[in-house]
Amino acid sequence: MMLWALLTVFGFTLIGGGLLYGHRKSHADSLVLAKALTLKLRESVLFLDSILRELPVVVYVKDTEKLRFVHVNPAGERLLGISRWELIGRRNQECFLPEEAAVFEANDRAVVVSGRPMEASQETVTTRTRKKRTIRVRRSPIKDPQGNFRYLLGVVEDITDQVISEAALRQAKLEAESSNRSKSVFLAQMSHELRTPLNSVIGFANLLLKNKKGNLSADDLQRLQKILGNGTHLLELINSILDLSRVEAGRMPINKTPVPLGPLVTQTVGELAGSLPESGPVTLRAEMPETLSPLETDSSKLKQIIINLVGNAMKFTLKGSITVRVKADSSGAPLCLEVSDTGIGIPADKVDSIFEAFQQVDNGNSRKFGGTGLGLTVSRALANLLGYHMELESEVGRGSTFRVVFRTVPPALEVPRG
Ligand code: ADP
Repeated sequence: MMLWALLTVFGFTLIGGGLLYGHRKSHADSLVLAKALTLKLRESVLFLDSILRELPVVVYVKDTEKLRFVHVNPAGERLLGISRWELIGRRNQECFLPEEAAVFEANDRAVVVSGRPMEASQETVTTRTRKKRTIRVRRSPIKDPQGNFRYLLGVVEDITDQVISEAALRQAKLEAESSNRSKSVFLAQMSHELRTPLNSVIGFANLLLKNKKGNLSADDLQRLQKILGNGTHLLELINSILDLSRVEAGRMPINKTPVPLGPLVTQTVGELAGSLPESGPVTLRAEMPETLSPLETDSSKLKQIIINLVGNAMKFTLKGSITVRVKADSSGAPLCLEVSDTGIGIPADKVDSIFEAFQQVDNGNSRKFGGTGLGLTVSRALANLLGYHMELESEVGRGSTFRVVFRTVPPALEVPRG
């Protein structure tokens, strides 16, 4: 606006004054114009400067020839504890410790040479008060109007606090992992030690129950039966805790070999079927695809998972069927193993929690059906150890399907069960 006002005055004077004064007038007017332009320029410099002043990050500019500071904003002065008047005109070596200056010099120079921006993830700078700060620097080359790289722009973030808290977090994680491992090692050792005397209690209770001398009363035998029942329950608990803590402590050995799943499943189902009354209300069977290639796995661990899942299915199925099914893709590569039952089912809000240690659908069930609440936790831990994951589909009153997924493929590639 001001410029236009001046130009208007200039034009009016020119027309009114005539040609005689033309030369002198045009000189004076050029001066006015130059002044106006200078004013504009000053305004925009001040505008830019006030932006740089308010920026919370450090901004500096260096010349590309000797890498001397040309500009530093107040955030830079605050970070370094050095005034901009001390910095401007100085080179890296004159402002920083020799080893830090060498890094700045090399990185500044690399940007000047390549003509490309560069971000250094971490550099260190020692401030005037001898404090070490960790900084992240983004350097960009700046062109002059002729297109030459005359300046280097640096944007610096002080990431000291972030680096310290990340290191503290890493340390805390390491400590937590290590104490969790020690806990698991302790549990594994303790459960192992508990098993020996417990086995002997169970063994002697079994022996006495035979009542070979015939001198034990019915009450004695009933009490012995209780000792045996509780002892066996305790042994199951200890075995499960031992398994879980071994997996957690990374002490569960895995022995993977190519395992033909057909024989493994048929044999396990055969063994388990023995505990079901013949022509009783519940049947147990295996279903396998016609072609089935061996699975590279640890057969004893997979067998343990099948036993746990079928054991549960038998416990919670009063009538109907239990099916152990292997599914494969079109080439016969095993995809998953399922244990389906037509039992009591599991409410949707318990589907996740029953995989947690000591979680059962409800206390009523646990009293009625017994169990430790650890079978599924152990099964899932073993499945994960082998590189598999477990899934569960269930409907109350209709039954459940527990699935050990060996590998996932698009559903289109799955072959209907054989
Ligand atoms: P446990 O069977 O010893 O209680 P698990 O960890 O094996 O411990 O199972 C946890 C709970 O999950 C069981 O108590 C039961 O409530 C539920 N559950 C597991 N399998 C089945 C199943 N096939 N049908 C119905 N409920 C089941």
